[in-house]
Amino acid sequence: MSTLKVETFVLGPFQTNSYLLIDPATSETVIVDPAADDQRMIKRLEGLKPKMIVQTHGHVDHCVGSSSLARRFGIPIAMHELDVPLYKSIPQQIQAFMGGAVRPEMFDLVTPEILLNEGDEIAVGSITAKVIHLPGHSPGGIALYFQGDPGKLFCGDTLFADGVGRTDLWGGSWPTLLSSIRNKIFTLPGQTVVYSGHGPDTTVAREIKCFAY
Ligand SMILES: [Zn+2]
Ligand SMILES: [Zn+2]
Repeated sequence: MSTLKVETFVLGPFQTNSYLLIDPATSETVIVDPAADDQRMIKRLEGLKPKMIVQTHGHVDHCVGSSSLARRFGIPIAMHELDVPLYKSIPQQIQAFMGGAVRPEMFDLVTPEILLNEGDEIAVGSITAKVIHLPGHSPGGIALYFQGDPGKLFCGDTLFADGVGRTDLWGGSWPTLLSSIRNKIFTLPGQTVVYSGHGPDTTVAREIKCFAY
């Protein structure tokens, strides 16, 4: 079995981390949170085998590039069903957050075809990730967890290096977020690398040490 290759693109006005998860043996690729219609990322994907887009959650800064990529490569969008209403409100979110940056094609959303739940598995070539449901930052936030040495966790805006996600947005809940972090992230092996929605990556052990909530 090959080892997952991770390529990071920092995209959009919120400097969102968009990840390409690549199986080097087959070039099969899952795209996590395409945050912009980015030519460099599209060029890179043309040399790979894009299979699916996974949204860690439905906030606009993680979804702006999804519909155009889904159309361009003929691939489905996958997310937790509890965040689909949020995803469908992208036009309203754009107006709230980005004002003048609205382009008409941002409103032409591709509907997520694959609804993910806790415990589902996603294959990237011969490598398998497990879906972890992490409500709190939004109702249908998820992470993809790849077991390994070390494991890798793609957790969107639930946990950052030195911080946690905000809970003042649509459907956010502080106690639910803390419970997701404590019970579903901090129970993973300490050396697990945490790839967040913004900023540098970190590890579970480092964040347990810094956790002040
Ligand atoms: Zn968010
Ligand atoms: Zn974000």
